[in-house]
Amino acid sequence: MSNVPFLDLKRLNMAVAEPLAEAFLRTLNSGWYILGREVEEFESEFANYSEAKYCLGVANGLDAIELLLRAYDIGPGDEVIVPSNTYVATWLAVTHVGATPVPVEPDPLTHNINPLLVEAAITKNTKAILPVHLYGQPADMDPLMEIAKRHGLIVVDDAAQAQGARYKGRRVGSLAHATATSFYPGKNLGALGDGGAILTDDPKIAEKVKCIRNYGSAVKYVNDVIGKNSRLDELQAAFLRVKLRDLDEWNVRREKIAQQYNQAFADLPLILPQTPEWAESVWHLYVIQCNDREALQKSLSSRGIGTLIHYPIPPHRQKCYETLSHYKLPIAEKLAQSVLSLPMSPLMTESEVETVIAAVREALLEGNTLRA
Ligand SMILES: *Cc1c(COP(=O)(O)O)cnc(C)c1O
Repeated sequence: MSNVPFLDLKRLNMAVAEPLAEAFLRTLNSGWYILGREVEEFESEFANYSEAKYCLGVANGLDAIELLLRAYDIGPGDEVIVPSNTYVATWLAVTHVGATPVPVEPDPLTHNINPLLVEAAITKNTKAILPVHLYGQPADMDPLMEIAKRHGLIVVDDAAQAQGARYKGRRVGSLAHATATSFYPGKNLGALGDGGAILTDDPKIAEKVKCIRNYGSAVKYVNDVIGKNSRLDELQAAFLRVKLRDLDEWNVRREKIAQQYNQAFADLPLILPQTPEWAESVWHLYVIQCNDREALQKSLSSRGIGTLIHYPIPPHRQKCYETLSHYKLPIAEKLAQSVLSLPMSPLMTESEVETVIAAVREALLEGNTLRA
């Protein structure tokens, strides 16, 4: 029985080992390692790719969200609407600026924030909506932008999992007032370490983030605001320029694997990911819902198939958010108990995809311990 890991990052990066090594040597040889030519070039290339006017590299995805919230002057006393079903970093960014995350439940089939539930969560303190394009699938942005407009709110989207995704033909990165993303190694566009970026068409916001990421200093040794040190490294930017060239091709390959899974599992007692016709997902993750998730995961593990759970505990159930544990969020809680992410990587071989498919079918159809 051949093993299929959940994600083979080494294989992904070794596939571009030569251009990565060239990028390393070019940066080494430049003698300039912070905020230089590589970051500038990457920012321009990624802005162009994302159909946004401005891109600024920052240290990681969490900082990207935080810096945008700060640039919009969101802070203590303010509320920011967030999905109940997301990676905790989305909420942490809100907490870091001193504002309060206010959760809204997702559509259980798309996993993304349900725009129909957003308006009820708006109060006089609400300043922004922070949707997440979870698992690579764009959230339903038009109604969110419309609600924001009506209530005078900002929309900052968390695109950490969705580089290259499209919504009604438009790229993620061009949909909200500003976008935050992450280049954590496992993301669709992953660095060889930490990295992140913001995207926006608003020159004032771009200027502010540029200042905050570098000690609050637009002019060297002149500090206008209490800034941070949150910069994308030259080296990571050089690596990202290499990886960006393959991103579209790799996203197409992810889509193909997702379609193979969708077809192969259509008759099984599982809830498969649903993609609205306006969404072009980039399949950061392929996430199924299964009633007896633990048994399925165990059974797949015994067949050599790696799986993960994104995410086992929703943010409002985390100890760090004890103060928000009063929220009743049954959809997020149900998803946390039933979701399972199957292997998904652009460089999975055809035979690995078939191995996963066979294992899932066997586990569900033959496994007499499992009744989904
Ligand atoms: C990865 C991720 C982040 C955080 O990115 P880092 O670069 O790890 O700080 C934020 N939001 C979501 C949805 C993510 O998946």
